[in-house]
Amino acid sequence: MIAVAKDLAGVRQAAIELLKEPMISAQIEKTRRQAEGAANKDRILEGLPLLHPMASGYYVRAAYGFWLDSSLDLVPASPGALTADDLELLRVVNQARDEFRRDHEQCPRCAHWLERGGVVCDHCGHQFQRGDQCQ
Ligand SMILES: [Zn+2]
Repeated sequence: MIAVAKDLAGVRQAAIELLKEPMISAQIEKTRRQAEGAANKDRILEGLPLLHPMASGYYVRAAYGFWLDSSLDLVPASPGALTADDLELLRVVNQARDEFRRDHEQCPRCAHWLERGGVVCDHCGHQFQRGDQCQ
């Protein structure tokens, strides 16, 4: 049995994957559409990335961390209300969010997240200009 709550590196990785999920889902859908009718369809589909390659507990813990973080934006916690594990989890999910934002940028037209340095939004087709890549 994996002690997910104590494996902060694993929770951090799961948090990053949760942030990437809309991008990966869009990529999977696009690849599936392109594979339709292809002679090597099965081979193409075998190469699709997995959305959640780690144990599900990591994603549950990371999702709880994001929920806790967003809840604290709405209702600040009173001193002592959060455990040391909660505080560590908040630190980990915020690190994950910072890393994600460092490596990705948001389309100014549709707000879809893309790998940093992209030229065209793969969601809406927006052509990036130099000034767009500041988020
Ligand atoms: Zn876009």
